[in-house]
Amino acid sequence: MSEALKEDLEKIPELQHRNFRNDEFWKKIPAWSNVSREEFGNHLWQLKHSIKKIEQVAKALGPLCTPELMSDLEAGQRRTPMNIRITPYIFSLIDWTNPWDDPIRKQFLPLGSQFLDDHPYYQADSLGEDTDSPVAMLTHRYPDKVLFLPTTICPVYCSYCTRSRIIGGSTESVDKETYGANQKKWDQAFEYILHNPLIEDVVISGGDSYMLTPKQLKYIGESLLKIPHIRRIRYATKGIAIFPQKITSDDDWFNALCEVHEFGKSFGKQVVIHTHFSSPKEITKWSQDAMDRLFSAGIIVRNQAVLQDGVNNSVETMVKLTRSLGFLNVQPYYVYMHDMVPGCEHFRTTLREGIEIEKAVRGTTAGFNTPTFVCDLPGGGGKRHVASYEYYDEENGISVWKAPYVKPGEVFTYFDPIHKLSPEAQKRWENEHTREAMIKEAIKKVTG
Ligand SMILES: *Cc1c(COP(=O)(O)O)cnc(C)c1O
Ligand code: SF4
Repeated sequence: MSEALKEDLEKIPELQHRNFRNDEFWKKIPAWSNVSREEFGNHLWQLKHSIKKIEQVAKALGPLCTPELMSDLEAGQRRTPMNIRITPYIFSLIDWTNPWDDPIRKQFLPLGSQFLDDHPYYQADSLGEDTDSPVAMLTHRYPDKVLFLPTTICPVYCSYCTRSRIIGGSTESVDKETYGANQKKWDQAFEYILHNPLIEDVVISGGDSYMLTPKQLKYIGESLLKIPHIRRIRYATKGIAIFPQKITSDDDWFNALCEVHEFGKSFGKQVVIHTHFSSPKEITKWSQDAMDRLFSAGIIVRNQAVLQDGVNNSVETMVKLTRSLGFLNVQPYYVYMHDMVPGCEHFRTTLREGIEIEKAVRGTTAGFNTPTFVCDLPGGGGKRHVASYEYYDEENGISVWKAPYVKPGEVFTYFDPIHKLSPEAQKRWENEHTREAMIKEAIKKVTG
């Protein structure tokens, strides 16, 4: 295609989702104005220059960081349950001329001014992962699949992490029992899986698989694949979205992944990656290069996003994200309602928003590239389609659910964020007795 024709095509709004930026965007950050494309593309350079403290934000930004922003960031640090860690790649994709509204800044650099009081029914372990855990690092909720958490560290820390109770180091507001790689504990988890022949599927999450060394990645993958009844494993990593340079330049890690994939393939077992892009602003030519490398190796990548206020809760953003990912050969798999965990009330949306955005997205592209919008039920009911609630009192933001297979006979509730309800409903929530009566009434509609 000629350059002129290509430019014309890119002006058509329908095709905007293919328009991946390839400019030297990091040069706008004063500290990196002289960093070459080659250096920026090196995974070691990215690691070395990752930002782990607020003072480093100011240092990297120089004059772009106003005193007002700095004091708001400091206030954010006093409140957030998560540590800071950001790769230069994702840091430079933030629009620093308007950081207040930037969807990437919102995810990784919380501001004190944005926090809201936690919902009265939030829980640190909202999904009951620790309750459904038969051995350390393993959650076994569904009959044929388990969640394995071999590490609690990540290449970036998301301020909305659903596992903020364990991920990253302790913060001013939370003490955590974090852990790194521990082969002995992993072996106990493999032992459990070996003795439970119903299990076919293992999600290797955490934490982030990017933080496993090539040796650990192989050890975990091969140990699991050798178990006769295991058919599928997935490595979960946000890496492709926030640090694509590791895929394109860390050959040891990439080759280890390919070896596990080939090992699985040699006896008919699936090895895939689940990643985590939240907004189209995170997708660049670097993402495309990383995906091209994975695709050439035959490795399937799927995406799980979380629906978040001011990040991706508009039809336009979600459609663009879905279509861009499809174009890159990333299969949009899930969009989650935000879990009811601490420090996240400002991120949450109503269930209605989830349902409406799902309706708008469906039909815009191939069905297999259309994400399922789910609510992972507080209390361990598992993932349910957003529109499959039993009852929804929209006025008071109370939805009631069942999980017939996972927890037969039980009912579950999910609550919309209170600040999005009508002033009258907000008043009702203020009073503990009215609040409990409303919830009881909603549950009664279902249980009779
Ligand atoms: C999400 C999850 C899984 C995987 O579920 P899929 O719907 O197959 O992606 C497995 N175990 C637990 C505990 C989970 O939360
Ligand atoms: S990458 Fe995943 S596990 Fe790590 S902080 Fe983000 S959401 Fe949590």
